[in-house]
Amino acid sequence: MRIVVLAGGIGGARFLRGLQQAAPDADITVIGNTGDDIHLFGLKVCPDLDTVMYTLGGGINEEQGWGRTDETFHLKEELAAYGVGPEWFGLGDRDFATHIVRTQMLSAGYPLSAVTEALCDRWKPGVRLIPMSDDRVETHVAVTLPDSGERKVIHFQEYWVRLRASVAAEAVVPVGAEQAKPAPGVLEAIAEADVILFPPSNPVVSVGTILAVPGIREAIADAGVPVVGLSPIVGDAPVRGMADKVLAAVGVESTAAAVAEHYGSGLLDGWLVDTVDAAIVERVETAGIRCRAVPLMMSDLDAAARMAREALTLAEEVRGA
Ligand code: GDP
Ligand code: CA
Repeated sequence: MRIVVLAGGIGGARFLRGLQQAAPDADITVIGNTGDDIHLFGLKVCPDLDTVMYTLGGGINEEQGWGRTDETFHLKEELAAYGVGPEWFGLGDRDFATHIVRTQMLSAGYPLSAVTEALCDRWKPGVRLIPMSDDRVETHVAVTLPDSGERKVIHFQEYWVRLRASVAAEAVVPVGAEQAKPAPGVLEAIAEADVILFPPSNPVVSVGTILAVPGIREAIADAGVPVVGLSPIVGDAPVRGMADKVLAAVGVESTAAAVAEHYGSGLLDGWLVDTVDAAIVERVETAGIRCRAVPLMMSDLDAAARMAREALTLAEEVRGA
């Protein structure tokens, strides 16, 4: 079975680990979000691709959900001693090596997709990890700064990590997405897929950014195979992080039903919500999306695997309908 998954960082990576347990023989292609990418200290950092790579490759800091195990921060401290920041973005010594290798290969002319493949040669994530695009896409957020009242457009990481989404996101723009082309292999993987899954990743700044690359949304809608998603919103709030802030920016309420409707029946065939949201199943089905309520908390690997099994079961139900 060929499965294509559109993934952001933590939610995507943890789900993928469950999917590997649930479908050990499946051929899994991950289309990774690169809208979170940022240049720091002259290096190209791809947080979501790395979270997937480290999580599936056994190098992730489990408690944090991002960054490396056994990490130290000497380099960052030395940079800070020179007054060189930003100090708000956590880059550890081990993690730095990944960004140095990536930047070196990009400077030598390799596209990001080839660089990602080379990095994965070390980590052996057990999936094919492809960035959504080799072209530069960077999500920016329009905000009004509370102290000065100044309206500013800032990089997504500055909004998410430095400001902790503490001010309203007035707009979320994947800068460069309109001109970006899907990376080699992306459209082919979608066309050859038996099932397409949206893990419980951020619907706006992870899955939404991937869908903003021209051609990807259309390819998924036209693939003619079941497309099933899992809600990152449980009990009207994100399980982790501040997804509600970016959902508000696109006019979507923070409920599992509203997120399903936001994707729409033109794209989604099936949607899993948590059992605490069982009351909204009918609303989602009325929108033309087959819906089931099952436990959606990835408290451990087995729980994530059960979620993946439920998603594949729902996909088979859709296929048989
Ligand atoms: P990011 O790039 O690291 O922010 O990660 P993703 O975009 O892949 O996923 C972030 C989303 O995952 C957040 O909106 C969370 O609500 C969601 N999430 C995290 N853990 C869980 C979980 O255990 N269950 C569900 N249903 N969603 C989760
Ligand atoms: Ca992310």
